[in-house]
Amino acid sequence: MTLAIGIDVGGTKIAAGVVDDDGNVVAELRSPTPATDVEATEQAIVDLVSELRQEHDIRHVGVGAAGWVDASRSVIYYAPNLAWRDEHLGEELSESCGIPVVIENDGNAAAWGEYRFGAGRSFDDVVCVTVGTGIGGGMVLGGALHRGGFGIAAEFGHVRVVPDGLLCPCGNRGCWEQYASGRALVRTARELAAADPGRAETLLSLGDGTPKGIEGVHVTAAAEDGDLVARDAFEEIGRWLGQGLADLVAVLDPSCLVISGGVSDAGELILDPARAAYEAAVAGRGHRPFAELRLADHASSAGLVGAADLARTAP
Ligand SMILES: [Zn+2]
Repeated sequence: MTLAIGIDVGGTKIAAGVVDDDGNVVAELRSPTPATDVEATEQAIVDLVSELRQEHDIRHVGVGAAGWVDASRSVIYYAPNLAWRDEHLGEELSESCGIPVVIENDGNAAAWGEYRFGAGRSFDDVVCVTVGTGIGGGMVLGGALHRGGFGIAAEFGHVRVVPDGLLCPCGNRGCWEQYASGRALVRTARELAAADPGRAETLLSLGDGTPKGIEGVHVTAAAEDGDLVARDAFEEIGRWLGQGLADLVAVLDPSCLVISGGVSDAGELILDPARAAYEAAVAGRGHRPFAELRLADHASSAGLVGAADLARTAP
């Protein structure tokens, strides 16, 4: 049994776990992400690794980070929601921790976790779309993680789906994540509630009573409670999600599509409209098999499990 540490660095929290060969998390720690402070973020990772190593014999450490990681799995070119810019994180962490540390894109790590131990485990070609604040993802093609020529493949959220559409933090307009992410869900719910407050009674009551007070958790809770506007918001986001999935299928032809990330916690609320839109939009429908569309098995831990396994197994 080889134990590895997997770490998932998100915009708000860092999750670290000791993971065994079968993808089981045998110990887990969490700490907040000091998102604007590079040194404090690195120190928080070093502290978590050190604490976990006191109790466990660790040979490998993998870090999944919400950033664009180079092909050598060491340098973060850029992180839209964290302070990393051309950061040699792998080298620095390896030195501070006294053990080799491999860096992975968080979407790649989650895709690998789902492919090895989760919803995609019985397939060789798996595309995982992470629907959180934005949209990330990863793809396993022919049983291998596809990182691309520079390590930055599978930035699905920045495929432009609307000409001259909404402005994205990446600098372009009309990116998919502006229409099918958690942020888009909240924006849509606020717009719909402002247009017809009478239909959003439950939704508005969960916040401060104004459309601006609506947050993501409110939309899910209200939709589960039957709120019409919250349900409409999920319908709309799901429709955009399904349209994009059809395009990914046209390019990559996966046998399985996995939806992970915070928004996937809403389950069928997001999956049903996504499936309907995907099946209605996929090219050659009626003359080809549909890729299996599934929710992630390990939405909250796939990133750290995948990062640990990639540190242990990938070249
Ligand atoms: Zn973008």
